[in-house]
Amino acid sequence: MEKEIGGIPQVVLNSGHKMHLVGLGTAKDPFIEDESLKFPILEAMELGYRHFDTAMIYKSEKALGQAIAEAQERGIIDSRSELFVTSKLWCTDNHPDGVLPALHQTLQRLQLEYLDLYLIHWPARVRQMEEGSVQKEHHLPFDMRGTWEAMEKCCRMGLTKSIGVSNFSCKKLGDLLAHATIPPAVNQVEMHPLWQQRKLREFCGEKGIQVYAYSPLGGAGATWGTNAVLDSVVLKEIAHAHGKSTAQVSLRWILQQGAGLIAKSFKKERLKENLEMFDWELNEEEMQKIGELPPKKAILGEEWVSPNGPYKTLEELWDGEI
Ligand code: NAP
Repeated sequence: MEKEIGGIPQVVLNSGHKMHLVGLGTAKDPFIEDESLKFPILEAMELGYRHFDTAMIYKSEKALGQAIAEAQERGIIDSRSELFVTSKLWCTDNHPDGVLPALHQTLQRLQLEYLDLYLIHWPARVRQMEEGSVQKEHHLPFDMRGTWEAMEKCCRMGLTKSIGVSNFSCKKLGDLLAHATIPPAVNQVEMHPLWQQRKLREFCGEKGIQVYAYSPLGGAGATWGTNAVLDSVVLKEIAHAHGKSTAQVSLRWILQQGAGLIAKSFKKERLKENLEMFDWELNEEEMQKIGELPPKKAILGEEWVSPNGPYKTLEELWDGEI
């Protein structure tokens, strides 16, 4: 981990590029194109956020692009190169011919020349979406090898500095690595004190893949999330002992595991709070107590499971890692 004076620490990815350990999530429930999203993003930039996580499916790329353009006009940042921008390939484009056009559209919405990181959002493919949701009759087989080759091509073309995946199990990462000429730099997965990802973190550590935690607060309040993290009595007690919030304990636990994180808040006080993570730490006893919390996964990925699709059960989708 590299410490930055006055800023957010960064890790060096296996691609050689640096990535801030704390990023801002932009998935606002429900996913609706909304220009006003640029205001909290600009506020976050003023507070020091430099890493932003978006995806085609969140419909937040355009607002993020507007915020980036405005931040340069207003001098909040000097240049785009100060930022780390991640976006994700949606499952309708999860095939060899879909990747490049999808990335071009993403860049157009963001008004950017390149991404810092492009992720395969899910190891699944769907023919089309209906009213914003995945219908099981549209499931298709996912050509992981061919899709990854197209991701590698985008990287070689300079359209993205690094490439990676999201929601991949150890088994799927192993299959990907068997053929990859550029290994994934990042696996972005659900991770928080109630879903600790021990096995996956160990595997990724051995392979030089950086784990980033999504829904680091359990996705509290969102239809896909759980309030169980922020309601945890154990986390509340630890927070009280440090004079911190329960949210900060969850985020600090993630950072002390060596993972990066993407937290979403559009409220100034919370944006600030979620950055105040680098001048205190949880002790060994507290880490152990958190380690013993009963697991509760928020995002199961049930929409990718169907009797006639490639994944017939959740066990198959996660290769037993659930
Ligand atoms: P999250 O960051 O775990 O939680 C966000 C929720 O917690 C919001 O309701 C937010 O409300 C609240 N919150 C934020 N900071 C808080 C604090 N300090 N104290 C109390 N409450 C706080 O959830 P998430 O949005 O699910 O995950 C974060 C990001 O990860 C997403 O935005 C997205 O970019 C990414 N993600 C990726 C995937 C994937 O499949 N790759 C899946 C899910 C999410 P306010 O906004 O009202 O503050």
